[in-house]
Amino acid sequence: MVLPGSITERRTRCGRDGCACRADPPGLHGPYWQWTRKVAARSVCRWLSPGQREDYQAWIHNDRRLRDLLARLEELGAAALDTDPRWQRDARASARGPRQTSP
Ligand SMILES: [Zn+2]
Repeated sequence: MVLPGSITERRTRCGRDGCACRADPPGLHGPYWQWTRKVAARSVCRWLSPGQREDYQAWIHNDRRLRDLLARLEELGAAALDTDPRWQRDARASARGPRQTSP
């Protein structure tokens, strides 16, 4: 499985007087885990249990690997297109003006 977004560790402070989270130095609550992704330019978050965090972190890792691989394959495709010998032949055979790609 693949999952977009990222998982962030959160440590929080509560409102109770005398709680360790309000001491100096503070003993904050947590860690808690939050999954965040962008949906239509807005961040959408969900809290995760420790077990969910472990499972979904692996999915996010898969997503990153897949995106890296796709980017590399796209580079290879673009490089193969650049070395297509028909660019030269078409440029010589036609009088359509300058090529639209840079040399
Ligand atoms: Zn507290």
